[in-house]
Amino acid sequence: MSENKTTLKVKLSGEDYHDIVIDWEDETCEYNQQIYQQLAAYTGIPIFYIKNSYILPGNFNIPFGLENTDYLWRFTRPPTVFDVNERNRSRFNDGDCFNLRCCTYICKDQDQLFDFAVDLMASSYCNDNGCNIFWCQHRNTRAYLDKMIGIVKNTELQKKIKAQLPVQFTQASDEYKQLLTDYNIRQQLHGRCIYTSGPRKCRFYAPHRG
Ligand SMILES: [Zn+2]
Ligand SMILES: [Zn+2]
Repeated sequence: MSENKTTLKVKLSGEDYHDIVIDWEDETCEYNQQIYQQLAAYTGIPIFYIKNSYILPGNFNIPFGLENTDYLWRFTRPPTVFDVNERNRSRFNDGDCFNLRCCTYICKDQDQLFDFAVDLMASSYCNDNGCNIFWCQHRNTRAYLDKMIGIVKNTELQKKIKAQLPVQFTQASDEYKQLLTDYNIRQQLHGRCIYTSGPRKCRFYAPHRG
């Protein structure tokens, strides 16, 4: 691999690794947009529905966040572009392997009800044949993800749900949970993990999530 390119290996549960190549000399877009374009292509999630990512690197390195600048409801673009590339270059190593963790969140203030976070969890912390606090083998399969994408793309369904929601609500609100149950999508969006036998916990902190 050229020294100006970094290859990350990512996968969904039960699949082979897929290469994501960051070209640090590509000046047509930021390095994180190269990642999001390729993540969107691999996962099938439309790029404008992906808000951000939590990156858990291996070897006890500090987790960090990435923002998708093609996110549909992004209000501000970062003022700096290419200096970020340089700053983040050392955070990824050529050949790093990640298991993908795809989660839906509420984006309350928009017509759309849900968006996605696509998290990159170092494969060394994930158990491909089980579940742990970092990653669930059952909730990160393509079959499960396809159902989530179907719900997020279903604008009619979301309009109906939004119309019945109170002005103030959170993912923990009884009204919200009941509506998802009524529409039979609660399990698809916030399914239970066998390991934790509780609602799927997607992250331990939400980078830039307001
Ligand atoms: Zn790709
Ligand atoms: Zn699980």
